[in-house]
Amino acid sequence: MAILGIETTAHTASIGVVDEHARVLALASDVYRPTAGGIHPREAANHHAEAFPALLEKLLAEGKFQPSEIEGIAFSQGPGLGPCLRTGATVARVLALAWNRPLIPVNHCIAHIEIARVLSGMDDPILLYASGGNTQIVSFSHGRYRVLGETLDIGVGNFLDKLAITLGGTFPGGPLIEKWGEQGKELVDLPYSVHGMDISFSGLLTAATAAYRAGATRENLSYSVELTAFSMLCEVLERGVAHLSKKEVVLGGGVAANRMLRSMVEKMAAPRGVRVFAPPPQLCVDNGAMIAWTGALALRNGLDIRIEESPVLPRQRTDHVDVPWRSPVAPTRSPATA
Ligand code: AMP
Ligand code: MG
Repeated sequence: MAILGIETTAHTASIGVVDEHARVLALASDVYRPTAGGIHPREAANHHAEAFPALLEKLLAEGKFQPSEIEGIAFSQGPGLGPCLRTGATVARVLALAWNRPLIPVNHCIAHIEIARVLSGMDDPILLYASGGNTQIVSFSHGRYRVLGETLDIGVGNFLDKLAITLGGTFPGGPLIEKWGEQGKELVDLPYSVHGMDISFSGLLTAATAAYRAGATRENLSYSVELTAFSMLCEVLERGVAHLSKKEVVLGGGVAANRMLRSMVEKMAAPRGVRVFAPPPQLCVDNGAMIAWTGALALRNGLDIRIEESPVLPRQRTDHVDVPWRSPVAPTRSPATA
């Protein structure tokens, strides 16, 4: 059994194929890179429309799966940029019709959790989802993934991308900030913005931009924004771990590829006896394999939909989606034994 997944929530057009054990049989992606500023939704959608035929031809030519093996076509239904989502949904509908297979809608954020959960073998982890457009702390309870805390403005990845362009770089900015930050030696004073379980990055972006204009080096600034932003993420993640007596943490989203973030999360978790897992970078960033795997879980639970009723949902939230493939109540762990 194999499921094919289509991802197009933002900058990445991707097709992945997984089998019933979540083994990735095939994966190919093409990333839209804006020449200036952030993502232009229609340009990104045009990029995806042009990219898909070549991606599919490449995968079929590699011969790692046969269309006859595919049992269902999964696609990112939301959240994401409307034009991009519509392009991916169109590709998925065409394949479902051409190959006469069920069409399966998938929530993109839940796909990040499920791929990390199956790869780690963890049963009930708390997730730090740190991507371009999203930043959330997520945990399962009573049939749904619940958002315990999230960014109040931009995603941490978009924050790094915007700052990197100010510092003379190009998209994607996160890896550049990581590279420059490794040469940083002095801490630049920056605002730290945690509000209960929520965080915000726009004030940090304004302050970092001002510090650069006032003469801070990009190396010191990169080091300082990483330390500040990732401390904010670690604080809310640790609070979630402590309140829920969690023993497992998974990281997802492209920013989870960052070595400083991984090491800070490890340092938070180790004294608590908490295991940490992050998927390999190609499965941390947006990818079709995670959509395919979550589609496989959904199809087993009869969650396929009719093509005539397959809208995209740009504002769909993680906690709006039922997750029947997990038992309704998460396993409990008494704080006394945690
Ligand atoms: P996603 O939206 O999950 O596909 O992830 C893309 C985001 O991850 C972009 O904002 C990238 O700048 C960011 N990113 C990728 N690699 C790294 C890295 N090593 N450090 C920080 N951010 C990264
Ligand atoms: Mg993502």
